[in-house]
Amino acid sequence: MPEFLHPDPDNFSDEELFQEEKIRPQSFDDFAGQRKTLENLEIFVAATKNRGAALDHVLLHGPPGLGKTTLAHIIANELGVSCKLTSGPVLDKPGSLAGLLTNLEENDVLFIDEIHRLSPIVEEYLYSAMEDYKIDIMLETGPNARSVQIALNPFTLIGATTRSGMLTKPMLARFGIQNRLEYYTTELLSTIIERSARVLGVKIYKDAAFEIAKRSRGTPRIANALLRRVRDFAEIKGNGEIDIKIAKYALDALNVDEYGLDEMDNKIMRVMIENFRGRPVGISALATSIAENPETLEEVYEPFLIQEGFIIRTPRGREVTEKAYKHLGITVPKRLDE
Ligand code: ADP
Repeated sequence: MPEFLHPDPDNFSDEELFQEEKIRPQSFDDFAGQRKTLENLEIFVAATKNRGAALDHVLLHGPPGLGKTTLAHIIANELGVSCKLTSGPVLDKPGSLAGLLTNLEENDVLFIDEIHRLSPIVEEYLYSAMEDYKIDIMLETGPNARSVQIALNPFTLIGATTRSGMLTKPMLARFGIQNRLEYYTTELLSTIIERSARVLGVKIYKDAAFEIAKRSRGTPRIANALLRRVRDFAEIKGNGEIDIKIAKYALDALNVDEYGLDEMDNKIMRVMIENFRGRPVGISALATSIAENPETLEEVYEPFLIQEGFIIRTPRGREVTEKAYKHLGITVPKRLDE
């Protein structure tokens, strides 16, 4: 995947991880946007603190880079407890889950990223942990095998997922608080970029921040990654300050177009128009045609193209809209005009 518009923390260098941590908001006040979600969470956190209890389990869903991990950290900070991080694919055995759970202090937060990728057996263990703060552990194997029940400290599970549709019903039912994070407006992304620039100690002009924001696919992680790349250009090609001229120069050099669409987005639309003649197409057929895996297509590319109105989801499959034809400079066929 192109690096600039799809920054993947799993592939970040140590320096990039350090930078991302440095600019991560630490409190509700620093967290831009998502007003409805924040207003509710602030109330739940305050009430929970008053009671001295563990916050109800929280599920955060939405596309990558919108602030799920950040919110989990903030919730723990605001509760005054520690936050332990793990992810669905890492928790491959009940033993690793048990190890984490038994090490939690009272009311701590356990954050599980990609919770839809937990194995069924680990998920089963999680149920009783979430419900009664208890887990059963198997001791020994073979004829001597027996299970003992271990009481856990009360804790809050914060689960994050890009695909809440893949969570099982019993799992979903165990989250008392569920929130969907939305894409950010250009104005909000601008304020995020200005704040990140302040933390990084780089001067940025308002119109330059807006220009970067416009091309960031509604996603703070992309906005911050683009800011870091543009800063490189400003340091080498300019005087270190980010003004509109250097911002535009850098963004063009990085091949990021005015909507923040990259080659893959354009390829998806082009294939839908040229190979499938603008007719409805299923996700796997489309994925095969663009040589991308269906999950990435559905989680990363499609939501933004839908949000921006380039494609729509119909019961018969995905269809390109008039806006996609116009964006690619292809004449809209008559059928679409009717
Ligand atoms: P996710 O877990 O949803 O993939 P993250 O929480 O890791 O996303 O967010 C990615 C980056 O974007 C973080 O480093 C953080 O600095 C920034 N970020 C996300 N949401 C916000 C926000 N609402 N305000 C400011 N910065 C944000």
